Amino acid sequence: MSFGARDGGPDVRDVPDAAGRAGAQGALGAFDGGASDAGAYAALMDEVRAFVQGPARAWGEQIETTGRLPDGVWEELRDRGYLRLAAPTAYGGRGLPFTAYLALLEQFAQMHGSLRVIVHVCNGLWRSLDYAATEAQRERIVKPFVAGRRRVTFTLTEPDSGSGTDIRTTARREGDEYVLNGQKWMIIFSDVADDFLVFCRLEGTRGAEGTLALLVPRDAPGLEIRPMAPAMGVSGTQHGHLVFTDCRVPVSNRLGAEGQGLEIAFAGFLDPSRIGVAATCVGLASRALDLAVDHARRRITFGKPLAKRQTIQMWVGEMATDIEAGRQLYLHAARAFEEGRPATVPAAMAKLFCTDMLQRVTDKALQIHGGIGYFRSSEIERIYRDARMQRFEEGTAEIQKMVIARERLRKT
Ligand SMILES: Cc1cc2nc3c(=O)[nH]c(=O)nc-3n(C[C@H](O)[C@H](O)[C@H](O)COP(=O)(O)OP(=O)(O)OC[C@H]3O[C@@H](n4cnc5c(N)ncnc54)[C@H](O)[C@@H]3O)c2cc1C
Repeated sequence: MSFGARDGGPDVRDVPDAAGRAGAQGALGAFDGGASDAGAYAALMDEVRAFVQGPARAWGEQIETTGRLPDGVWEELRDRGYLRLAAPTAYGGRGLPFTAYLALLEQFAQMHGSLRVIVHVCNGLWRSLDYAATEAQRERIVKPFVAGRRRVTFTLTEPDSGSGTDIRTTARREGDEYVLNGQKWMIIFSDVADDFLVFCRLEGTRGAEGTLALLVPRDAPGLEIRPMAPAMGVSGTQHGHLVFTDCRVPVSNRLGAEGQGLEIAFAGFLDPSRIGVAATCVGLASRALDLAVDHARRRITFGKPLAKRQTIQMWVGEMATDIEAGRQLYLHAARAFEEGRPATVPAAMAKLFCTDMLQRVTDKALQIHGGIGYFRSSEIERIYRDARMQRFEEGTAEIQKMVIARERLRKT
């Protein structure tokens, strides 16, 4: 997939300032694959690295201490242009090719989980919003989302069903409104979202038939947002339990047609998002390995640094190989997506492998740290908790295996 020509925006050669912060221009430049883009991209990569290793790391420590996101985090990420790297220039995005965006996402994944997830969601959800949007909705919904003026969150999972064709939240049409009843839970950003992209079904329908994608404003009458208990990782991020009781939403907030709800949830969005999760696993695993290597060099036991022990060397070799295998697998899937080839199975394979790889690598990295790695004062302890969440994002390992097996069995 290519995001084509510039939209007349500022020149991409506007580069970050010495502190690694994007100049207002640098954050806005578009990419069109020209020679000047290579230099601009390298500068952007340097800028992101400096941000991840500087201000973002300080924020991460603050989040772990206070249990909440510091004020202004969303605004800072938005103003630096980091929430619209992957969106097309025609929508106000930076128009980065997908693989170029993913290399940056690997860097962002080295931030605290709560910061990483903001970048990942905002750079992906525009695809769902845009999939079946009318021109009027594109202006009213998609562009303000890309610009970071409206926050929208993906709202599918329910307490009483699997996340798919058995969704139970219902809608019935009354004149120019839908009336919603049901529940959703574990919904990220529910404390700050302006709108919830809710997947539900027309009363009396079953399966994929009759499903709807509705944008529900947080102040919609009949919507109650209950904060959930803090999660194991990604601390500071609030998840919500949403209860709809005769909740009224204008028909003009429906994206696509009646019956197209699950298509909007999955088609065009899920494959790149799974590849994105895989890339974040590679980024986070790389940080875990760096910390483990650093510790192994410094820690002396029985008169020698751990790094001199063959057991530790074997682990480092295994971790580095695991990470590189994950990187090559997600790039394989990303290229298929970028070039318009079937990407569903490669994306599922990349997500499956990389989330398992991340578990293996973070477990060994913590082990190399010894007992001190188990304490909250240690970054690897936080990484270990954040990593566990990745296995639930965009479908569990079992769902990925089902996708892969379905295709393999169909071929046979
Ligand atoms: C921190 C966090 C944030 C989240 N944010 C959001 C969000 O913003 N929006 C949103 O919509 N959801 C969100 N989720 C929910 C997440 O997408 C789901 O947890 C995930 O898809 C699994 O669904 P479930 O929890 O309902 O598990 P279940 O469907 O109950 O499954 C339980 C286990 O059984 C396995 N399983 C289920 N069905 C089958 C089957 N047919 N065959 C074999 N195995 C099966 C699953 O793989 C899983 O391991 C979030 C979850 C977490 C942990």
